[in-house]
Order: sequence, then structure tokens, then C-alpha cells
Amino acid sequence: MIAAQAEDFVSFRATARTLLAAGIPPDQVAWGDSLFASNVDLPNQANPVAVPRDFLALAELVALHRDSVKWPLLYRVLYRLTHGERDLLKVDVDDDVRALLLMEKALRRDMHKMTAFVRFRRVRDAEPEYFVAWHRPEHYIVERMAPWFRNRFGSFRWSILTPDKSAHWDLENLTFGPGVPRSDAPDEDALEDLWRDYYRSIFNPARVKFKAMKAEMPVRHWATLPETQIIPSLLLEAEGRVLKMAKEQKGSAAAYVPDVRELAMLQAAARGCKGCDLYAHATQVVFGEGPSDAAVVMVGEQPGDEEDQKGHPFVGPAGRLLNKAMNEAGLDREKIYVTNAVKHFKFIERGKRRIHAKATGIEISACRPWLEAELMTLQPQLVVCLGATAAQSLMGRDFRITTERAKFFPHRWAKELVATIHPSAVLRMPERFDEEYALLVRDLTIIAERVKELEKTS
Ligand code: SF4
Repeated sequence: MIAAQAEDFVSFRATARTLLAAGIPPDQVAWGDSLFASNVDLPNQANPVAVPRDFLALAELVALHRDSVKWPLLYRVLYRLTHGERDLLKVDVDDDVRALLLMEKALRRDMHKMTAFVRFRRVRDAEPEYFVAWHRPEHYIVERMAPWFRNRFGSFRWSILTPDKSAHWDLENLTFGPGVPRSDAPDEDALEDLWRDYYRSIFNPARVKFKAMKAEMPVRHWATLPETQIIPSLLLEAEGRVLKMAKEQKGSAAAYVPDVRELAMLQAAARGCKGCDLYAHATQVVFGEGPSDAAVVMVGEQPGDEEDQKGHPFVGPAGRLLNKAMNEAGLDREKIYVTNAVKHFKFIERGKRRIHAKATGIEISACRPWLEAELMTLQPQLVVCLGATAAQSLMGRDFRITTERAKFFPHRWAKELVATIHPSAVLRMPERFDEEYALLVRDLTIIAERVKELEKTS
């Protein structure tokens, strides 16, 4: 009996090739964990054996299965494939093939579950912004799935922690570390502690750009000072100071937002807002509308002329186009809460006409406390930003609709956030209307699919 060992697909392939080339039949090989592998005395090797390509693809996947019977099973099938049963994989009533296919199915289900159940949460005091998720896959799929998360959530730094392995994305590199030895899923605080254990090992204080911190400690010494332990709390304090200043200063709705989680009360309070100058010219505030248990919140830029007169969001031409596109995409507006990043209409007068004028960054910032209060109250699964103003209000000024549309990002106010073009932008491009409208419907269709997935897992 020859003892062989495999830890992953690469080592299995190397060992199996050696055994196969030496003509060792499966019943003479004991696959295990001990390190005999390729140092056993094998008979003189014959010519290397050609392995069917579809078996290699299947074996690469099945190698991720947790059950170690996979190794003798894979070798048995490989041996048979190369010893007169070239079409074995097509015989799905064969016991070995059936066992392989069941393993493949279990892995595909596990991989799908990972895409559906991994939930990133923002680490409270991390700078730069960082997201972390805990997940317990049934099989060893973290490395296989990490590129999927990088493609989907590539704009954020994140870590996925699992008992077997951890995956980390820093906007440039995908790296892997040891698993988190926990038998049960950690609660939220424990999750942050686990992440901190990892982050402590890679934390680079020189990337933090807080002036106050630079003044308190020379940056060049941060990496070697024990005081670096206090950086998170300094960041927290700094954030608190900024928020306090924003509340005290003019030009913010913060002072008008009541400390309640009730949409009707927020809406009533918004009527008295003088957080910026826009209230002085508009007819009325246009607050968000929709069911209080909405799983999806759509955020536009600001009310238009018709919305300003009627007092309701998305009832003008852009709103009608949005309804049509949502209908085609399979999104039910009745179930969605719609609002705007800025609650008063901004315009310039041309004769009797009032022409939409873009809100400034100051006005968008001033109005953000209302949007945050709405999102905090609703706690939606998904926020859909329509247009750059809404997206930049919630994702920062570097966010670009052109490159990030229809991609899903974790967010502090919802499980995920996604952005697409504003329907009014489609209306403003009559020469490319069909093309842009089709892209809007395409994005909304992707969003509708994601809403269904989120509903299933909520
Ligand atoms: S736009 Fe927003 S911040 Fe400005 S007055 Fe209206 S509600 Fe207040």
C-alpha cells in the first residue's frame, strides 16, 4: 500500500500524476494527512498520462469539499478515466461519478450561499473606511469566492473572516490569512474585535490624514509608538468634534432634525427647516414618501418644478419616466420609499419659467441630516441612488456613476447601496434617449434581481 497526501488541488494533482504515471491502481493507495506523499518509493515512471480537461475543472472544485473522501474518490475516477473509461463522467448513474457530482452540487450551493449571506458591516472608527464580514461556509471556498467579492465590492477595503481562512482586500491586493478560530458566529462587537486583531497587524497610521493627530504625534514615529493604540479613539473624538461643529454652525439642517424615528414627525419638522437658503425661494419642502417598512429607498437629487408645486417627490416628468422604467424592470414603486438628497427646489427664473439649478456641495451637505434621519428610521435593505448628487451625498465626492453604476456597495445606512443615472439625465439627452433609457432599465433590472435576493435572505 502506498500512502499519499493532498492538502489542496495543486498537491493532489502533483501526487496523482506521479501515482498515475507509475501505474498505481486506486486500491493500492491510502490517501491521508500524513506526509508520505511523493517521497514514497514508486516504480519507475512511464510516460505522463493525459488527463481529460473537464475532469480537471471538476476536480479543482471538488478539492474544496470538506470531506476528505474526495481524494480517494478523485483518484479512483481519474484512474478509470485514463484506463479505458474515457467517457466515464457522462455516466451519471455510476456510483463514483454520482458521488463527485453530489460534491460539486454541494459546493455550488455553498458558493451561492456565500454570495447571498455575506454581510459587510462598517467598522465604527476605522480610518480609512473599512468593512468586515463574518461567514461560515460549509467547505473551503474562501479563496475561490474572494475574487467575486473583489469584483463586486472592489471600491472598499474589506475583510471576510471565516473559521478556515480570512480574505482581505485593500483596494490593490487580495490577500489571505488564517481563519478565525470560533465555533459560533461572533456578535457585532466580537466581530469588530476579531477584525481589530487583524487590522492591528496591518495598520499603517501614516495613511491617516487628520491634522489634529499630526499635531499631537509626529507621523514618522506612529508605527513604533505604543501610543498608536489610541489612534482609533482619537479618530472617534475627531469625528465627534466635526459633527458637533457642523451642528453648531450655520448652513446645516442638523439643528432642525428632531431626535425621533417617526417619518411623519420628521416630515412635519422639515417644513420649518432653514438649514440653507433654498427654503426662501421654493414653494414648500418636498419630503420623502413611501411605506415605513420599505426595504428599498430611492434617493434622487432634489424636487423639480412640478414636485415643488405639488409637494410630492418624483411626480414630474422624471418621476413618470422612472415609473415606466421601474415597471419594465419589475420594481414595484408602491413598495419603495422615494426621497431626495436636497428637500427644496433650487431654480433660476427665465421669464415665467423656473429652470432647475444644480444644488451646491454646501446645500447637499446642509440637507444631509434629513436624508440620514430618513434612512436611520427606515433601515432599508437597499438604497438606490439616482444620479451623482445622491450618490456623492451618501458615498463621498469621489464616487463616479459612470464607472460604479449598478454595482453594490456595503453602506452604513443600509445593507447595500447601488447607484444609477437619474431619469432627468435621460430626459436631458434627447439624441441618445433610447440608449440611455435602455441602460436605466438594465440597471433597474439588476437592482430588481438583487432586491429579490435580499428579500429571500432577510
Ligand atoms: S434644502 Fe434642506 S437644508 Fe436647505 S432649507 Fe431645505 S430642507 Fe433645509
